[in-house]
Amino acid sequence: MVKSCCAVGCTNRLTKGCILSFYRFPVDGNRRRLWIAAINKKGWEPSQYSFVCSAHFISGKKSNDHLSPDYVPSVFKHLDSPTRRRQASKMEAYERRKHANQARAKSVQADNEKLEAEREQSEPVCASVELQVESSALALQPHSIGRRTELSIEDVSYMEECLDQSLQFVGVHTDVLSKEFMESGSSKVPGVIKFYTGLPSYSRLKVLFEYVS
Ligand SMILES: [Zn+2]
Repeated sequence: MVKSCCAVGCTNRLTKGCILSFYRFPVDGNRRRLWIAAINKKGWEPSQYSFVCSAHFISGKKSNDHLSPDYVPSVFKHLDSPTRRRQASKMEAYERRKHANQARAKSVQADNEKLEAEREQSEPVCASVELQVESSALALQPHSIGRRTELSIEDVSYMEECLDQSLQFVGVHTDVLSKEFMESGSSKVPGVIKFYTGLPSYSRLKVLFEYVS
């Protein structure tokens, strides 16, 4: 059976070389009613052999987006020019909204990816490893190091003990904190030193190490 269009006044039929598409009526109740109303044949019900050709859609094909003007066929021969112009501008407005929404969605996704990347970068290298050294015990201010006479023997031995623990801890994680990395001058080094020892820089750690050794 040759597919032919059921729209009033339309003689399109599927023949060899025809570039039109022929659509069956939707199964979905509400959309089906809208299509039947658009065809506008009194007391008529489509059968499984009833088709609407793509010439009745503004963009030249049907859309399954219920917000699109092409969700329902709307281009018919009997329509006057102002109606056709209104249809065209409705379609343009729909396309503009669609592109704006897509651009907004892309922008939100890009922002989320950027935030995620920034968060990953700001996390310490060994964030999953529990710091077992009381880092605050080593949080010496620069002036404390210069005033050696104020430190008692107990202070020094406590610092030594803490420093030993720190260095052991750092040593355990040499796979992450290789010596090269520590001396590379990388911008991450101070953060890593501070994270493990509570000291603001590697040079401070060295000064403290030399002092107690
Ligand atoms: Zn047709």
